Amino acid sequence: MMVRFAKRILRNRLAGFGAGLLLMVTGLCLVTPFLGLPDPNVISTADRFSLPFEDGFVLGADHLGRDILSRLLWGTRLSLAVGLTAALIAALIGSLIGILAGFFGGKLDDLLMRSVDVLMAFPYILLALAIVAVLGPGLMNALIAVAIVNIPFFARNVRGVTLVIARSDYIAAARLSGRGSISLLLFEVVPNLWSVIIVAFSTTVGWMILETAGLSFLGLGSQPPQSDLGSMLGEGRAALITNPHTSVIPGLMIFVIVMGINLLGDGVRDALDPRLAKGTLQRSSPVTQVLRTGQPAPVDTQSTLDVAGLSTEFRVDKNPLRAVRDVSFSLNGGECLAIVGESGSGKSVTALSITGLVASPPAVITSGTVGFRGRDLFSEPFDVLRDLRGRRIAYIFQDPLSTLHPLLTVGAQLAEAMVTHDPRLTKPVLRRRAISLLEDVRIANPEHIMMSYPHALSGGMRQRIGIAMALANDPDIIIADEPTTALDVTVQAQVLRILDDLRRQKGVGLIFISHDLNVVSQISDRIAVMYAGQIVECGPSRDVLEQPAHPYTRALLASSPQIGAGGGLPKPIDGGLPRPDDLPAGCAFAARCEMATDICSASAVELRGSASREVRCVKWEAANG
Ligand code: SF4
Repeated sequence: MMVRFAKRILRNRLAGFGAGLLLMVTGLCLVTPFLGLPDPNVISTADRFSLPFEDGFVLGADHLGRDILSRLLWGTRLSLAVGLTAALIAALIGSLIGILAGFFGGKLDDLLMRSVDVLMAFPYILLALAIVAVLGPGLMNALIAVAIVNIPFFARNVRGVTLVIARSDYIAAARLSGRGSISLLLFEVVPNLWSVIIVAFSTTVGWMILETAGLSFLGLGSQPPQSDLGSMLGEGRAALITNPHTSVIPGLMIFVIVMGINLLGDGVRDALDPRLAKGTLQRSSPVTQVLRTGQPAPVDTQSTLDVAGLSTEFRVDKNPLRAVRDVSFSLNGGECLAIVGESGSGKSVTALSITGLVASPPAVITSGTVGFRGRDLFSEPFDVLRDLRGRRIAYIFQDPLSTLHPLLTVGAQLAEAMVTHDPRLTKPVLRRRAISLLEDVRIANPEHIMMSYPHALSGGMRQRIGIAMALANDPDIIIADEPTTALDVTVQAQVLRILDDLRRQKGVGLIFISHDLNVVSQISDRIAVMYAGQIVECGPSRDVLEQPAHPYTRALLASSPQIGAGGGLPKPIDGGLPRPDDLPAGCAFAARCEMATDICSASAVELRGSASREVRCVKWEAANG
């Protein structure tokens, strides 16, 4: 495990460079007693300010004729030892405070964190000076001062993470099982905090070495004749112009140590955070990266929306996660296409890929075209795509609370959705249109709701506002991604009716994504069933629901509860989806299919049939020619 961790750090070239610098410095410090260097404190006034490589001094001599190389190496040992010890003390005490405050909360939290706040109320360098002033100058007192001023940093960091862990469900479950606080702290909380403490330690130890050097520079740390890097810098500053080597050499050593520690610290942080290690916390580009090979095929000019051969993958590891594979479908105004499948089957990634909304990195569109009114969207510049988003192609998301702005009123958000695409709209027009949109989605008392904030509304109301926002610019296509999943059955039926009426009245093309076949049966004209990133069956809703051709569609139907239909409990589909980074060569459903034979796994299974009914199954193909 340590080897894997070290490899992960060294994969980051800058961290490897930092580790190399630190190894070199630490190695030099370790062998210093065996190098036979002159005594660092022996004064030789005849050799004052000797230059490097002069009079037998490799790095020259200081204002008292002392060997700079010897003082530098012994001083580096001291600076590293003091900085690391101060960091360890601060990490230990600060983490302990943070763990106790975060885990026990209440009055203990108040007491500890208010004490920490008092320490943080002073600029830390002033606080360190004040502590040394009280304790008296000296390296040990400088160490204590630096450790004390850094305790709040660890305490606050660790408390924040402890709070989250202490309130997690698994801790609550462990409590209910009878585990005591000490056991929870030692075996559940602390093991989860190691990475936070190590990252905080690795990113602050360099700063602590600087602070110790700063105190010594001011004459409050190491006292003559003892040398550390800060005191060497302080002694050399008087001759900075005439004999710069006396101050530049210790300054360079401080620079090398702090840079090495910081670069390595960043590498440790990245290696311990799997999201950073895989690049998923990088800032996403505003449009999904498109890396198609060859000339894209011409798009269909007959359909409003024509998706052809779309493939999207996530490049987070050696093997890409192939989320969407060769997906094709088309949609016209007033039509409703439902995309159904289990969670992870690629429905949402397909929908988001249409307007390039899948986060890149790590997502990459590797093939296919999305034709909108005859234009290939993947070939259009970003400005065109941005203009189409929300104006011609609108989205309704599953959780409206997380998509609505919590600090803006409903009216302000509706107005923003419209004015973004048409800045000439005046306030009275925006208000009139917003009220009309709320009426369209059957919200009673729209004037009052316009003034409300999202948190004051029910889930059903918020979802209606999401629909109203999607309709704000009279789009041609609406993509509704599980819009009714979070709603109860009654509100679900109301929202479905609103969507159905709107697409019929306004002629909007609707892509309705759901895992629930009962829901899609109420609204869709056609159904595309997705499995492991591919469409496995596509056809008119009635045909797919009443005569399912693919074993997966049949299994999905059997797993859906049918109220009042009798026939016992729904039958779950055994097994799970194949890993998107390790997809089988043949049929992806073979491992769960009751009809699977060797031929199913031999090679890729193609989508076959007519334009109105397509199925990806060798058995169906054999039976239907
Ligand atoms: S191809 Fe074979 S394994 Fe795949 S769904 Fe058809 S019968 Fe089942």
